[in-house]
Amino acid sequence: MLKPNTHYAELKDSYLFYNIAQKTKAYVDAHPRTHLYRMGIGDVSLPLCGAVIRELYGAVDDQAKQESFHGYMPECGDPELRRTIAEYYGRRGISLDPEEVFVSSGASDELGDILDLFDVSNSSLVIEPAYPAYVDANVMTGRKVVHLPSGKENGFLPVPDEGMEADLLYICSPNNPTGAVFSKEQLKEWVDFANRRGAVILFDAAYEAFIEDPELPHSIFEIEGARTCAIEICSLSKTAGFTGTRMGYTVIPKELERAGMKLNDMWVRNRTTRTNGVSYILQKAGAAVFTEEGQKQIHANIQIYKNNAKVLMEALDACGIWYCGGKNAPYIWMKCPEGFGSWEFFDHLLNEVQIVGTPGEGFGACGEGYFRFSTFGDPEDTKTAAERMKQLLMK
Ligand code: PLP
Repeated sequence: MLKPNTHYAELKDSYLFYNIAQKTKAYVDAHPRTHLYRMGIGDVSLPLCGAVIRELYGAVDDQAKQESFHGYMPECGDPELRRTIAEYYGRRGISLDPEEVFVSSGASDELGDILDLFDVSNSSLVIEPAYPAYVDANVMTGRKVVHLPSGKENGFLPVPDEGMEADLLYICSPNNPTGAVFSKEQLKEWVDFANRRGAVILFDAAYEAFIEDPELPHSIFEIEGARTCAIEICSLSKTAGFTGTRMGYTVIPKELERAGMKLNDMWVRNRTTRTNGVSYILQKAGAAVFTEEGQKQIHANIQIYKNNAKVLMEALDACGIWYCGGKNAPYIWMKCPEGFGSWEFFDHLLNEVQIVGTPGEGFGACGEGYFRFSTFGDPEDTKTAAERMKQLLMK
């Protein structure tokens, strides 16, 4: 008899954004004319940049004509785009073979799909608070999840200790939700640990473009030894506003092997079986992000989000509230005022000043007592919200 994947029954209800939506809806129903300041969900608000839009139109025109029409694209990505992305790394001093770059439909897809390369008996370490998809993707496949809590005492940037037992190590830097960024020295500890243990780091670099401190690493491959222990998963979602357009890329070095099997070769085999590649139109649009013009335009948008972060950080500073993130990441992670749990603070902000944020508890138990602001909102809204929050918290 058919048996479903019963591991799905082990998933915890994904109540975080559902609860936020329910509570927000209840508030709006009761106060229909009230404006809400939405700083909860990490979705972008600015449109795609001009260079991307121009390529999108051009690619659609190509598909309309016999002589420029494209059918299936290569499963691992257009060779030209793979080379372009390798050159992007090259500008930061990282040498990649274009065949080490795989064009994807986004980071979420890859974070789950990549597990295909590893036996289900492997365990996965998740540094918490964490982007919820890491835990869920592992639970769905029946893998053991090792939770590594982090906190204010280590700036939400824990380093490994020898007692830890895990085969796959999820590291997200800049981090969602805390906005904290690992230094090169801290990442070196993780790389050395992984190489000693034969573990593999799954490095989520979805927010690398938000890093402004020159000494902070954008990529795990800036760290010596990473080519034998790490896979990097990237996304254009937040970098270039592709949340609704969908494109990302994954880097798997050719040296990376376990038990004599090369993970790059395995991923080629996986992609050629499990996908038929990203569409021609989207790959043309994605390529525009890496041009000089595209980089200028996406960084102008990122700067608008960074100004939002600055406005919020100034308000929190004025109130003497502890927070991290904001400077090198589009998230600000604040300590809730004395006496407030995450959800109580959510209710307080919503009811008193109509601000919607995200309770930290939704990112893992150690997030209780913390609160996340996304800085992807409208600048005028953010300014007003920061002022309203300041007035409330200084009372
Ligand atoms: N990784 C992290 C840390 C994220 O915060 C997100 C989206 O919020 C993703 C991955 C997913 O990115 P994508 O839109 O490319 O699937």
